[in-house]
Amino acid sequence: MAESSYDVIVIGSGPGGYVAAIRAAQLGKKTAVVERDKVGGRCLNYACIPAKAVLRSADLLSEIRDSEEFGLKVSGVEVDYAAIQARRGKVVSTLTSGVSGLFKKNKIDYIEGDGTLTADGDVRVGTPQGGTPPAGAQAGEQAYGAGSVILATGSVPRAIPGVEFGGRVIGTEQAWALEEVPARLTVVGAGASGAEIASAFARLGSEVILLEALDRVLPTEDADISRLVERGLKRQGIDVHTGTPVAEVSTGETSVSFSYGESSGEADYLVICAGRAADVDGLGLAEAGVELDDRGLVRVDGALRTSRPGVYAIGDLVQGPALAHKASDEGVIAAEDIAGLQTHPIAYNDIPRATFCTPNVGSFGLTEAQAREQGYDVVVGKVPYGAVGGGTVYGDRTGLVKVVGESSYGELLGGHIVGSRATELIQELVNVRALEGGFPELARIIHGHPTLSEAVMEAGRAADGWLIHG
Ligand SMILES: Cc1cc2nc3c(=O)[nH]c(=O)nc-3n(C[C@H](O)[C@H](O)[C@H](O)COP(=O)(O)OP(=O)(O)OC[C@H]3O[C@@H](n4cnc5c(N)ncnc54)[C@H](O)[C@@H]3O)c2cc1C
Repeated sequence: MAESSYDVIVIGSGPGGYVAAIRAAQLGKKTAVVERDKVGGRCLNYACIPAKAVLRSADLLSEIRDSEEFGLKVSGVEVDYAAIQARRGKVVSTLTSGVSGLFKKNKIDYIEGDGTLTADGDVRVGTPQGGTPPAGAQAGEQAYGAGSVILATGSVPRAIPGVEFGGRVIGTEQAWALEEVPARLTVVGAGASGAEIASAFARLGSEVILLEALDRVLPTEDADISRLVERGLKRQGIDVHTGTPVAEVSTGETSVSFSYGESSGEADYLVICAGRAADVDGLGLAEAGVELDDRGLVRVDGALRTSRPGVYAIGDLVQGPALAHKASDEGVIAAEDIAGLQTHPIAYNDIPRATFCTPNVGSFGLTEAQAREQGYDVVVGKVPYGAVGGGTVYGDRTGLVKVVGESSYGELLGGHIVGSRATELIQELVNVRALEGGFPELARIIHGHPTLSEAVMEAGRAADGWLIHG
């Protein structure tokens, strides 16, 4: 028999789960969140937030190193990695306690333990794997009745064929949690996470090799962006090898050896950044009739409903880019659907993507190559940061804004920005598109001066055929 019942039980408290719970509570639903590890999920505790906190220190260090150009002589700069990690911990705890506060404010019950779906669509919560129940939780299992369940258990790292995690072969979350800056670090995979790790540790003092099996870094980004990022990473002293898979990995107590191309290497750590797989183990999906697709993701419709009525799935568990803000938006949609509100499916192409290496990358939608493959009559507007006053004033003339559009209606098909604050600037292009504007409208929106955002406007003008600065 159920100990208590809720209108909505969310399993997992990451950016998908906690946002879904708050939205459900706002809509008057009696809501609980089940979490087996730490409030805030992997995003806040091990992934996005710790990564960005460490990267912030690396960025500040770069600025200090470049400060002479701005008339500032700084000497005696030292990396105190223990202090960087302490700040990282403080950032994480500030944000996770914020989530706990939001649960209290919205009267959401937080239940610690392993959540499993039961065959009749309720939730059983057991002591977290590995033994003793956490403070406040009772040993054994408890059953909770659920009107609806939202699965938000996220994802786990995936190794690569022939290489297993263990010893000196680590994943991204472990890399950001290292207690010292390793002398030698090899990063396998130059996607967003790999580029971020390489860029942070190279600037903090590691000798970094970055290996990418495909033919360019950030292989899913526009080719122009990849080229500039590769140049930027090399400028930070990173030994970048594309078209070069890692092989013959052998880990010892204090180092790991491997081969790549014609060379062999040794590092203190090999970080595998090869993507992630849905965390569905132990969720009881088969018993509850929740289907997976052929990639092991939970199959959902546009309102995030699974094949089992009353059960929803969001975030890294389902299709689309594995990004925190996508998880959160899906949480809102699922909660609103449960409450009977009219929802609309996510436009996956319009989700902004951000990579926080130096140089920063922000993008959305189609690359130029994808737009051409899909048969659009493509127009491109490209403007370097140096074309507008802000690029020179703030010291980044090498950044680039690239707008990919189609000629007949002026539709914005994609946006690609590399350089300072690209991760912030990309939002403007997403917003213009979301409000049904195209590049001709972008070109005529008045932008403040001198800002980097003027380069975004100028890229709209370039696509529309009347670039002023260039
Ligand atoms: C190193 C790294 C950096 C990243 N940086 C960014 C970034 O800058 N921006 C961005 O948008 N995305 C980033 N991502 C991706 C982002 O972290 C994920 O897309 C996001 O965390 C997904 O959120 P979620 O709510 O689906 O799950 P998660 O954040 O993974 O949270 C799921 C939670 O569910 C809990 N759980 C699992 N199973 C159970 C169970 N049976 N019972 C109870 N609880 C359970 C887990 O303990 C976990 O706390 C990064 C990822 C990594 C690995």
